[in-house]
Amino acid sequence: MIKIPKDIYDTMIKDAIKEYPLEICGYLGGIAFDKEIQILKHFPISNIYKNETKFMMDSHEQFQAFKEAQHLRLRLLVCYHSHPKTSAYPSEEDIRLAFDENLNYMIISLKNRKKPIMKSYWIQKGKVKEQEWIAF
Ligand SMILES: [Zn+2]
Repeated sequence: MIKIPKDIYDTMIKDAIKEYPLEICGYLGGIAFDKEIQILKHFPISNIYKNETKFMMDSHEQFQAFKEAQHLRLRLLVCYHSHPKTSAYPSEEDIRLAFDENLNYMIISLKNRKKPIMKSYWIQKGKVKEQEWIAF
């Protein structure tokens, strides 16, 4: 179970809608105990592709996020991006590029912009398994 503070979740959705139809991306940092993940901090990262169907994190911002998380004694546990026009399921490319088995991958779908859907997955060796999460 991944627990996300409501204000962080709201900001992610707001950012995804603001940047529509471009993809957004970022990390969530927190603490993991066993299978419980408590998210504590949001690290939005610029999508250097500024594209509607793919993203590439700005490597400088990515490095800053790693450093800040380390300073706060948090781990980057979730990597998220938006799917402006497709469903909240990893694309073939998402699966191919998901090389970090310690990360959860979250996808925000704006296929229906009035009703954004966010889902979380473990992606390991090409296998996709949905994870439960809650915002509170
Ligand atoms: Zn994707």
